[in-house]
Amino acid sequence: MGKIISIANQKGGVGKTTTSVNLGACLAYLGKKVLLIDIDPQGNATSGAGIDKGDVHHCIYDILVDDMDIKKVIKKTAVDNLYAVPATIQLAGAEIELVPTISREVRLKRAVDSVKDEYDYVIIDCPPSLGLLTINSLTASDSVLIPVQCEYYALEGLSQLLNTVRLVQKHLNQDLMIEGVLLTMLDARTNLGIQVIQEVKKYFQNKVYQTIIPRNIRLSEAPSHGQPIIQYDPKSRGAEVYLDLAKEVADNG
Ligand code: ADP
Ligand code: MG
Repeated sequence: MGKIISIANQKGGVGKTTTSVNLGACLAYLGKKVLLIDIDPQGNATSGAGIDKGDVHHCIYDILVDDMDIKKVIKKTAVDNLYAVPATIQLAGAEIELVPTISREVRLKRAVDSVKDEYDYVIIDCPPSLGLLTINSLTASDSVLIPVQCEYYALEGLSQLLNTVRLVQKHLNQDLMIEGVLLTMLDARTNLGIQVIQEVKKYFQNKVYQTIIPRNIRLSEAPSHGQPIIQYDPKSRGAEVYLDLAKEVADNG
């Protein structure tokens, strides 16, 4: 049965989408069957996984708002074993349109539950907010992976995220766990990075992954080619570290 992991942090630009796409592609490279679900209206995971939004006729919006069968929305990607549920800008309206609907928090869960047996992992790329889309993702998930950027105020805002996790545990999904905390965009040339690592490890202890993602130019170039790093430049440092992360995640079960 598939494990469902939300990639969440309400801060923008911390590496959620980069991690969703590349963790997904690296797990697929390791032979796991992976479904990557894009639930951010910006649709960056969709294009990052190589799906041309011009070719998308149905997206996550249709699943959440119109109860469309998820199987009609899943697309194969150019990476073996990697499938995706795309998002388009249409999703921007969903947060408001869902408010008056019945069972608005469990819509994604119902859809994902209907296919999770067909995959080893379902990875959900969350938007930079703690609204209904992220709540749907946390409600559908077994666990949440939190990317934290190695910068000043790295821990800022995390108490709100953890509070949301607790609320979801209490009211919607009592089995939700913290999968792990991933340090991203480390600049090895500065002392700041080392301080942030210590601070985050003090707070999250053994929940912090051994693998730390450095700043790597190839990782930032890959999305504009519509390729995960393992495809775009398999020999790069970026590919190496995301493969290390995928192994850690797979070892976790
Ligand atoms: P989020 O989804 O949290 O908003 P992204 O994954 O989109 O964050 O990352 C924000 C920006 O930083 C993107 O332009 C991305 O290409 C870039 N980026 C992410 N991780 C790295 C990295 N390790 N090294 C260099 N650039 C990165
Ligand atoms: Mg993103």
